[in-house]
Amino acid sequence: MRAPEFTRSAKIFVAGHRGLVGSALVRRLRATGHHDLVLATSSEVDLRDRGATARFLLDRRPEVIVLAAARVGGIAANAAAPADFLSDNLRIQLSVLDAARALGVPRVLFLGSSCIYPREARQPIKESALLTGPLEPTNAAYAIAKIAGITHVRSVREQDGLPWITAMPTNLYGPGDNFHPTGSHVLPGLMRRFHEAAQSGAHSVTVWGTGTPRREFLHADDLADACLTLLAGYDGPDPVNVGTGRDITIADLARLVAETAGYTGRIEFDPSKPDGTPRKVLDISTLTGLGWEPRIRLREGVAATYAWYLESLDLPRQRGEVRGHEVVR
Ligand code: GDP
Repeated sequence: MRAPEFTRSAKIFVAGHRGLVGSALVRRLRATGHHDLVLATSSEVDLRDRGATARFLLDRRPEVIVLAAARVGGIAANAAAPADFLSDNLRIQLSVLDAARALGVPRVLFLGSSCIYPREARQPIKESALLTGPLEPTNAAYAIAKIAGITHVRSVREQDGLPWITAMPTNLYGPGDNFHPTGSHVLPGLMRRFHEAAQSGAHSVTVWGTGTPRREFLHADDLADACLTLLAGYDGPDPVNVGTGRDITIADLARLVAETAGYTGRIEFDPSKPDGTPRKVLDISTLTGLGWEPRIRLREGVAATYAWYLESLDLPRQRGEVRGHEVVR
């Protein structure tokens, strides 16, 4: 089957629409005139539940599914609960992809993560590096669940001929992120720590690890835009990397976030905390070849996310602890 045309009238299920990625996608879809969106919170449909997911999809019959629901978290959350990251993600993927396959949903975009690539992969990492070497141990359980998802999508393509696709975003940030002090990813985690230090007048802030690992950061709005580009113009078995192609050290990121939050004290590093993979910057030539490019520069994106964070502090807390490109409670 050829990929159906991605029209404004297509009925699109954004799985995980309250998370970082899903909420950015909904904003972008609405802004571009896609109004027939199927959305459900995790309390309405627990996507880990096969029966509930199958009934929901049978009832709604979307033509497009973007699978942005997942259990996600930073290096400490992954290390503390690998079984939960493996199990929840496998269950979400099996429920959604099996139900979509049974209904013959013509178009699925499955979102993975750049941690699926081998720890020692050549940089910048090409899509062809998948399964060519051992994974970074701090998030191997999560990565293996995501690799299963990629393989699931490829297998459905092979067996049923459906034009399903996968995308692999780099480290993401933006409004709606999880700012939990220990469970979050590095950027929102540091944002909260530096903000609180600036407010309390603390003289020192600790950043985990040595500060030397390098990471690439992409704003969720840029990812949302990339998803639309892929739905409109990509149909292949290989995952497509989504990033900026540029990375910075954790120490430089810490300085940028400190400056943004108005913190002027000392920054200390705690090498007893894990560094994780030394470097993971993506080769984004497949996607730039389709005409997409990242628009939001890190400094501007961090400033806008900090503004959102300040506003969110006035909102009542309504969500579960682990949020990211998902909501699972
Ligand atoms: P990763 O890209 O999968 O390793 O996920 P993270 O976003 O959790 O971490 C990236 C890097 O930031 C690692 O080298 C961490 O040691 C470092 N880091 C420094 N401070 C923090 C922090 O407060 N939270 C998190 N999550 N990571 C931190």
